[in-house]
Amino acid sequence: MKAGFIGLGAMGVGMARNLAKAGYLAAVYNRTGSKAEALAAELQLAAYDSIEQLAANVDVVLICVSADKDVLAVVDAIVKAVKPGSVVVDMSTVSSETAKLAAQKLKDKQTAFLDAPVSGGVEGANKGTLAMMVGGDVAVLDHLRPLLAAMTARIEHLGDHGAGQACKAVNQIMAAGINQAVTEALAFAEAQGLPLEQVIDVIAGGAAGNWFLQHRGKTMTQNQFAPGFKLALHHKDLKIAQQMAQRVGVGCPLTVVTLADYAKLMAKGYGDEDISALYRVKQKR
Ligand code: NAP
Repeated sequence: MKAGFIGLGAMGVGMARNLAKAGYLAAVYNRTGSKAEALAAELQLAAYDSIEQLAANVDVVLICVSADKDVLAVVDAIVKAVKPGSVVVDMSTVSSETAKLAAQKLKDKQTAFLDAPVSGGVEGANKGTLAMMVGGDVAVLDHLRPLLAAMTARIEHLGDHGAGQACKAVNQIMAAGINQAVTEALAFAEAQGLPLEQVIDVIAGGAAGNWFLQHRGKTMTQNQFAPGFKLALHHKDLKIAQQMAQRVGVGCPLTVVTLADYAKLMAKGYGDEDISALYRVKQKR
């Protein structure tokens, strides 16, 4: 099984390295070609100049790009050259509708599709410990499990096309609430004049401990907001989640307030910072 990887951003580069380590990766493509050339030289594999070339030369195409329009543009290029019988796996976070549309476009080319968004951050991508939420044919997933295991610690099949992305929307709503709670609590701790490192260490070991506090607590309180997970990308995910919630009549006030906070930060030019930059909004002026 020869795999090709499209999208060597903060997440993709670690995932690609783990696939290469497990012996599956044959080729990479990145819109900014220099990133693909550097990784291909490091891993001793092919860097293609076009998505079409990559799709024509592998059995499994893995995608990790930014947003819905990007996934659909990539899929449109794959469709032009993909070998019948191939599988395309999209690990970007996009809407369920985009996943269903991508599956349909590829079905016409006898190519299977899985929506397989991930959680676990850049750290999880680098360590190969991501949690993967999959929609699509379970037999296709079972065929690819050994390959996907190179990037993940857990893989869950949620249902048909789009179900993986619906589960990821659940994750993103939860992540918004956790971000609100952690940034607000640490801004309060700072205003109390408490020793922040010790506050974070002791709370991380108790019932309120969580991944975000552990991995982003100390950096945010030192005003370091390098991504990580770009705030503008989480804003995109929460827009998707908000629309899904409206369609089924479920309120999501934490999502609404986080969207407004992120919009403020994006207007000030902080969209490419990590989501922990929400701390900027919470800090006592
Ligand atoms: P990123 O660092 O901004 O990287 C985005 C990648 O997508 C880059 O390689 C970019 O190419 C490529 N790209 C964007 N638009 C494209 C297009 N139209 N055609 C081809 N390539 C395109 O983002 P990331 O953090 O890796 O996130 C990627 C996806 O994973 C997003 O959907 C995000 O929501 C999701 N995600 C992120 C995290 C996280 O913690 N960062 C966690 C889970 C899921 P260039 O290099 O040319 O810009």
